[in-house]
Amino acid sequence: MLTANAHYKAVFGRKMYKASICFSKSCPNRDGTKGTGGCIFCSAGGSGEFSAGGKSITDQIDDAISLVEKKAGPDAGYIAYFQSFTNTYCAPEELRAALDEAASHPRILALSVATRPDCLPEPVMEVIEERAKKTPLYVELGLQTSDDKTARLINRCYETAMYDDAVTRLKEAGANVITHVIFGLPGETEEQMLNSVSHAVKAGTDGIKFTCLYVLKGTALEQMWSAGEFEVLGQEEYFDIVEKAIGLLPPEVVIHRLTGDGPKKLLLAPMWTADKRGVINYINRRFGL
Ligand code: SF4
Repeated sequence: MLTANAHYKAVFGRKMYKASICFSKSCPNRDGTKGTGGCIFCSAGGSGEFSAGGKSITDQIDDAISLVEKKAGPDAGYIAYFQSFTNTYCAPEELRAALDEAASHPRILALSVATRPDCLPEPVMEVIEERAKKTPLYVELGLQTSDDKTARLINRCYETAMYDDAVTRLKEAGANVITHVIFGLPGETEEQMLNSVSHAVKAGTDGIKFTCLYVLKGTALEQMWSAGEFEVLGQEEYFDIVEKAIGLLPPEVVIHRLTGDGPKKLLLAPMWTADKRGVINYINRRFGL
């Protein structure tokens, strides 16, 4: 399997670290434009769970680098990661200015922008194309599932066909597309989960991030979980699915993440995801990383 580290080494000739940036403050699935309340698993922090406290993009990058610099060493490269909420849900000029500022930071070698497939109108695509010509640009799309019935259940508020179209347009614009997929969504069978992976591959994704569904306090998912409407996946069960999913990936598709971990202060289940070190050891043992 092609890991993100191996991919970065091949592209940038060095180890790369992410400098997370809080840029977007909202999402059309929260403010009523597409939906209200957001995706049922998403907490009020909008899948970023941090606040920049009004700091500039440059200051946020400096702060993020200073946290890992000692471990990373002087040769490390950094990716400015526009992580929270929906980062193309703004005026194109605002996005252009933010990307320009991040790209002009001397330690930043690439940009990564998390967004939704339904937030890529033509003026935004022009900004993406323009920037991708100058700086390696990753765009992360939250697909989560390719099953439109599950997508309705989780209140994703866009059809899977829109994701397919977004992948095509982003690749034409020169972006490298990373797709987020969640395993363990309520009511989904293993077959549906693996179908989502095959779907992303067929759509042309360049990379993939797997996450185990976790339940956070204050979300609609918490209510469903408390009412016993579904069960979260166990560690072994989750990584059995991940192993099968890896088997579906062509060798050139980069695996950017094998699982995620929710914010500890909000996490209700599954608690194995809170043991970050234990999970890393398990992954290293099981996948020989
Ligand atoms: S699209 Fe992203 S930020 Fe918006 S509600 Fe869904 S997970 Fe949260």
